[in-house]
Amino acid sequence: MKDFVYHQPTEVRFGRGRVREAGEIVARFGKKCLLVTVPEFPALAPLFARVKGILEEKGIAVAHFDGVIPNPTTDVVSAGALLARESGAEVVLGLGGGSSMDVAKAIAVEATHKGTCWDYLFFKKQPTAATLPVVAVTTTSGTGSHVTQVAVVTNPVERNKSALFNPILFPRVSIVDPELVVTAPKHVTATTGFDVFSHAFESYINPNGSPYTDLLALEAIHLVAANLPSAVRNGSDIEARTRMAWADTLGGLSIANAGVTLPHGIGMAMSGLYPHVAHGEALAAVYPAIMRYTYETSIVKFAAMGRLFDPALVRVGDAEAAKRSCEALDAFLRGIGLRMTLKDLRIPKDELKALAKASMILPDYKNHPRVATLDEILEILENSCRA
Ligand code: NAD
Repeated sequence: MKDFVYHQPTEVRFGRGRVREAGEIVARFGKKCLLVTVPEFPALAPLFARVKGILEEKGIAVAHFDGVIPNPTTDVVSAGALLARESGAEVVLGLGGGSSMDVAKAIAVEATHKGTCWDYLFFKKQPTAATLPVVAVTTTSGTGSHVTQVAVVTNPVERNKSALFNPILFPRVSIVDPELVVTAPKHVTATTGFDVFSHAFESYINPNGSPYTDLLALEAIHLVAANLPSAVRNGSDIEARTRMAWADTLGGLSIANAGVTLPHGIGMAMSGLYPHVAHGEALAAVYPAIMRYTYETSIVKFAAMGRLFDPALVRVGDAEAAKRSCEALDAFLRGIGLRMTLKDLRIPKDELKALAKASMILPDYKNHPRVATLDEILEILENSCRA
């Protein structure tokens, strides 16, 4: 068995109704809190008001930064960091999906360091212990950001989506309250749920994975296969929501220790160049072609994944199961309304080469079981233009 390190400092409070613990948790880190969310809208406004109330009950002064956007930009982080400094925030509470939690992490760095968060990307200067503590409350299932050391940010000038990556960014405490996810609309449920699968699967096939992350990843894939269709069909199915929230957490724990591969490399580049594309949509559009490009290099793992989506594959050998895992995933994507192409996502065909090049900026593609050349990525993108 291979040697490995597994590191996870985040205290996870998992369970229905546990958002009520936010005040007591935040108070551990200070009396002045920056609450970070998207702008209020009907589905989430009551939650924002409730959380403010929970914090204020514990004597915490709340400054509310409500400027988060999907695929959040460096400008958004700078506006939030300014408010953090002006309000003297001692702790940052990210309440929302991955975009809100990531902005909370990036603000925690920018508010306490020179320059902007973009100066602290994973390959640049690293943030110090001055970084504000972050508490995360997730409302999607999801990105796993509530248990990762990653903050994904887009620089709109460079049209580049990249990441801060440092252990200081692990949230100190995370609340995973499945009741907060029931308001997520069908498409958000499907795209974020597919992201959970992608995290788990890319950790599983990643050479940096370990017996520990394999265990987490396989359970996450099993939970997604069994529960995401129900959560998409009926958003108030709290049992399915709860199991997806657990799968999300497992996926996050897996990527925090094993990392992601080619689909995320392309997905990050796509949202960097085309911010209208949601993270989970980008992944859904390229997965079918990447599966077919890869399965022969990782037969046993693709077979194991395929059997979780299509139990009939237990009756065939690994090579056959691996091949048919591609069709099993196509059917799953169709079932959750995500069998889409790059054309559906309005990616201009004459820009595919630029997208292929951008997909090689982050090192994730190098951890794919079959390391793609520029031409191979271009071919994957061309194949992703048709269903
Ligand atoms: P998101 O946070 O962008 O939210 C998507 C939409 O859903 C938003 O409009 C939001 O307002 C809405 N929403 C969220 N929760 C809701 C709820 N309960 N009810 C109703 N509406 C709700 O989406 P996301 O997929 O959670 O996050 C995506 C971002 O996270 C991307 O930038 C992605 O790159 C990043 N990401 C980060 C990590 C990490 O480890 N830090 C991992 C994967 C992805």
